[in-house]
Amino acid sequence: MSDVFQQGLAQALPLLQEVQKGIKSAPKASQTALKRLRKAATTRPAAAVQPLPPPPATEWTWELLEQAILGCMKCPNLVASRTQVVFGVGNRSAELMFIGEAPGAEEDEQGEPFVGRSGQLITKIIEAMGFTRDDIFIANVMKCRPDTPGEESGNRKPKGQEMATCLPWLREQVRLVKPRAMVALGATAAEGLLGETRLIRDIRGTWLEFEGIPVMVTYHPAWLLRNQTITEKRKVWEDMLLVLKKLGRTITAKQERFFTTAAQ
Ligand code: URA
Repeated sequence: MSDVFQQGLAQALPLLQEVQKGIKSAPKASQTALKRLRKAATTRPAAAVQPLPPPPATEWTWELLEQAILGCMKCPNLVASRTQVVFGVGNRSAELMFIGEAPGAEEDEQGEPFVGRSGQLITKIIEAMGFTRDDIFIANVMKCRPDTPGEESGNRKPKGQEMATCLPWLREQVRLVKPRAMVALGATAAEGLLGETRLIRDIRGTWLEFEGIPVMVTYHPAWLLRNQTITEKRKVWEDMLLVLKKLGRTITAKQERFFTTAAQ
């Protein structure tokens, strides 16, 4: 992407966000101006889109990484549609990281991962494990909400290319946090993080690895919300018990029994 184009985007985006929030009314453009813009957009070669910004010469620090991620312009369509970048939240020296796929509408609005219905469920799981949300670091493979052109609502699955473009940011976050274990939530997160294409039911309950860090893949909370049977809840809980064991946590008898008929 040329500097001029990037500068143009940087100026246009805050204005577009004000229009989106209703602070400003939408600008009007003549047919001629639109025609010229369309021509410019279609003649720009795709290869001109370059990853930005370049990594700093030194090692990433949280400050540099946050600045770079929040200002990321790698995917022009997502830059144009996002309300804000969803960086990640929690303890930056956490021993455990939870990784989701991408922000949804609420996360895009609030700038924090897992704050919608799925978020409430994952928070309950985290608390049942004996943590608070502040004890762990929560992030997504994608830092921007996947756009849904022409749709009023709903989410879409991030494309493989989008996740590949965004993954370096998560990798740097993982390198800085240095967790002892990670949990990937759902098939899309497993694909984006690990390149895994196997079904969750075939890989959950076993340890995989990302940069030498043990990763437990389990069902996404949205999937659990759609399948609220005790057996499915138990499967996720058993995965979390394995995580607690990996971290050397003492597991109480009550925790062992969660989502078994004995606990009902
Ligand atoms: N689902 C995700 O995978 N991530 C979020 O942040 C919210 C919902």
